[in-house]
Amino acid sequence: MSAEKPLVLLVEDEPAQREILRYNLKSEGYEVMEAETGDDALLLAEEVRPDLVLLDWMLPGVSGIEVLRRFKNRRQMTEIPVIMLSARTEEMDRVRGLETGADDYMVKPYSVSELMARIRTQLRRTRPVAVGERLEFEDIVLDGDTHRVTRAGAEIKLGPTEYRLLSTLMERPGRVWTREQLLDRVWGRDVFVDTRTVDVHVGRLRKALRRAGGTDPLRTVRGTGYALG
Ligand code: CA
Repeated sequence: MSAEKPLVLLVEDEPAQREILRYNLKSEGYEVMEAETGDDALLLAEEVRPDLVLLDWMLPGVSGIEVLRRFKNRRQMTEIPVIMLSARTEEMDRVRGLETGADDYMVKPYSVSELMARIRTQLRRTRPVAVGERLEFEDIVLDGDTHRVTRAGAEIKLGPTEYRLLSTLMERPGRVWTREQLLDRVWGRDVFVDTRTVDVHVGRLRKALRRAGGTDPLRTVRGTGYALG
């Protein structure tokens, strides 16, 4: 997984639909992984932990709704937004999808631009920096669009790793991240780095933030990892 571009897992068995969606998702700046069946979707999601799942309802084998149910039963997967795509229009199905934990729902034929807007809405909640939002924590401001960071109005120069580290922490103030979770998010899943590397970069980030504002907003959680605030 790339540390910056949100990764969308596209689960759709119809090649033509997949192609349209892949094209549009890539134009929006997302990374795309594809699965044609529910089984593949479950395996792939476990492996790559996407930032969002677009899930077709009617799939060969394991149905979309069953995939959704299994996603939402896995602890590390519950935070990943899922948008269901369905040709069915009955109100009952809509209710069933949302009850099972879908975050949104679109009925085919849908407007691709509306779907893209809904994807952005979901990611603004879960990956705000990646979609260009501006985040604030106390006197620290991070602009996901310009990549500028300031503290009490003064610009802070950060290296790319420290920037990604700070943006990850600012997306979820108060959350305690383990070193492994930070490695996944900041360095990417396919990169092999030692967890001590995390400590080194947290140290650098800490120093830069302190220099600009005096206090240390980062918290070391003994035996676990780090949190902002
Ligand atoms: Ca289908």
